[in-house]
Amino acid sequence: MSNTKVLGIIGGGQLGIMLCQAAKNLDIKTVIYCDDEDSPAQNYSENFICGKYDDETKIKEFTSQVDVVTFEFENIPVPTLKKIQQIKPVYPDPNVNFIIQHRSKEKNFINQLGIKTVDYKNIYSCKDIENIEKLLPGILKTTTLGYDGKGQYIISNLQDFEKIDFKNEFILEKKINLQKEISIIITRYQNGNSVIYDPIENIHKDQILDTSKIPSNIDDKIANQCKKYAIKLAHELNYIGTMCVEYFIDESNELFVNEIAPRVHNSGHLTINAYNVSQFESHVRSVCNLEAVEPVMKSAAIMKNIIGDDIFDYKNREFKSNEYFFDYLKKKTKPKRKMGHIIILED
Ligand code: ADP
Ligand code: MG
Repeated sequence: MSNTKVLGIIGGGQLGIMLCQAAKNLDIKTVIYCDDEDSPAQNYSENFICGKYDDETKIKEFTSQVDVVTFEFENIPVPTLKKIQQIKPVYPDPNVNFIIQHRSKEKNFINQLGIKTVDYKNIYSCKDIENIEKLLPGILKTTTLGYDGKGQYIISNLQDFEKIDFKNEFILEKKINLQKEISIIITRYQNGNSVIYDPIENIHKDQILDTSKIPSNIDDKIANQCKKYAIKLAHELNYIGTMCVEYFIDESNELFVNEIAPRVHNSGHLTINAYNVSQFESHVRSVCNLEAVEPVMKSAAIMKNIIGDDIFDYKNREFKSNEYFFDYLKKKTKPKRKMGHIIILED
């Protein structure tokens, strides 16, 4: 079915590592392109090219070595992806990045489909902070390049805007009282069919994912709704590959889409150990046009991220047979940096 022998992956972090491993199991070679010379994924790929994401010469070299291109983070310049696309297929399509790289375009797209996000307003200059009282307390988020809570500010009253530098574009989102956060991993194939994983329950600490758990403790109505929305979003984006939809559930059990990640996702790491087919394998299968495998949960599971210096406690620890420790072997430890994770399978 597939003619892909070499998969090009832009981005070289832990998601890249797990994509390379999945590709290897399917006999597909990988080339990593990344702007960090210490990229941890280079140790798992057949080849590694280090270059800036707008370095045309290096990008050409990369493109010439691969049959199909995908990415493990969404903030690659769209013009770069479009140039690659003139020569080799890129999945998912760069138009997806155009929408999702920008929080306001993303939210607008979601709401237009009749799917709710929390209330928000574009704050592109200090003039836009009129009549925003109903959004307070709120969270001010940069429209682009935010991740793990970076570029976010809690706004409790109008004075809090004084410390904001309006050189950036922002959206102000109403801060809701969260009952729960969940995510859905979905893989859509080139024939338009999708496979979907069970909802994952997530706990964030300091706006960074801390733990993910399956099965999630949600009622059937919410479970069906979040799956239905994910299928609709993937379809409307004409999405190819694995993506993640992050949701909020508020105190009155209302479901909102928080954001879409057009890539494999941290909350889906547990699919490696707890499913017959991981989100990473599903992604490789989809972008390389291999046959779909229906995901089946084999075990309940918990994933915990290991952040910063906490990694040192794990490196010499002994693990039980149901515990799977994954060290990303990053050269530098930094506070708030994801260094590894552990998955614990439960009966
Ligand atoms: P990032 O793009 O950095 O992942 P998110 O928008 O997903 O940023 O926010 C990170 C976390 O912050 C969320 O998972 C949630 O825990 C919290 N958060 C973000 N927006 C809101 C909100 N409007 N109301 C309540 N909590 C929020
Ligand atoms: Mg998020």
